[in-house]
Amino acid sequence: MRTPIANGDARPHILDLTLADLQQWLVEHGQQKFRAGQIHGWLLQRRAESFDSMSDLPKTLREQLSEAFRLWAGKVVEHQTAEDGTEKLLFELADGGKIECVLLREEGRRSICVSSQVGCAMGCVFCASGLDGVERNLSRGEIIEQMLRLQRLLPEEERLSHIVMMGMGEPLANLDQVLAALEVAKDPKGLGISPRRITISTVGLPPAIDRLAKHSTPFHLAISLHAPNDELRDRLVPVNSKVGIQKIMQAADRYFAATGRRLTFEYVLLSGINDGPEHAAQLAKLLRGRVSMLNVIPYNPVEGLEYETPSSGRISDFRNTLLEAGINIMFRQRKGDGIDAACGQLRRNRENV
Ligand code: SAH
Repeated sequence: MRTPIANGDARPHILDLTLADLQQWLVEHGQQKFRAGQIHGWLLQRRAESFDSMSDLPKTLREQLSEAFRLWAGKVVEHQTAEDGTEKLLFELADGGKIECVLLREEGRRSICVSSQVGCAMGCVFCASGLDGVERNLSRGEIIEQMLRLQRLLPEEERLSHIVMMGMGEPLANLDQVLAALEVAKDPKGLGISPRRITISTVGLPPAIDRLAKHSTPFHLAISLHAPNDELRDRLVPVNSKVGIQKIMQAADRYFAATGRRLTFEYVLLSGINDGPEHAAQLAKLLRGRVSMLNVIPYNPVEGLEYETPSSGRISDFRNTLLEAGINIMFRQRKGDGIDAACGQLRRNRENV
């Protein structure tokens, strides 16, 4: 899959090529194979901004590269910084599609949240990303480009430590390109981020979860549950009506059996909808006996949607029921308040002005 052509610029995105592709290109263009490793080093580790700045490459090669490839396919059209250090980029892609990605700073962690598609087809009713459906999948290069742009926001002595595929889109609906990008992220000669620190978040698509379980690298898997029964989940996560919670839990169990990785379940708390004592009790029953972490996220309001964040009293009641039932539970801090931090919000708010 290739990054779309921009304004008649048919040059491919350099990051759409694997190392082997690049080696082949070099040989075909009268250059030495080992230059591919140097070019990757410049892009992934030395934070080069242009081919011309790759100072240990022969000038002719730098010129050939500029003629043949684009290094950046997206344009940063907005860059927001929150008081807590969270930074968010809104990208305009070559074909005009818009995506977002985020850098979060928490003590020693430097985590990034990356998009996998333009828009999203899953239709979760509280999420800004899917309100207008999906436009297309992102290419490998477009996914890696987000990582590199965010990396370049860090001072030289800091490195990216974690990646979450929790930006716009459903990563398991674009698994080939996501896995190709994550190969580079985990490669010690790439971004060098341990797969334990790379999370793929999904609405729960069993065949793709099974594919991931067979993949050679066991990434951390997070499943966006949001409801403890099918009746409620069908309403909040429409794709559920074709799958059902039981099939998702079985696929999750197979993932755990194959990888030994503790699973994460995500649960966005929506006031008066999925935050009652009966929901907490059902959820506890569903998760009991599974080696997992429940990640509860208070709803981040999206303009134009009527959902509300529960009161702190209701949130702590929900937490206590689960704690008493012995469930591992974590409350995700809301980061980036004031900068349209929930996925899809920045894009949406820009389109509405
Ligand atoms: N499609 C994938 C990944 C993208 S969404 C998935 O569903 O997991 C990443 C997480 O952000 C999901 O758990 C999603 O439910 C959550 N999310 C989306 N909109 C939100 C909002 N307005 N407030 C809080 N969390 C939200």
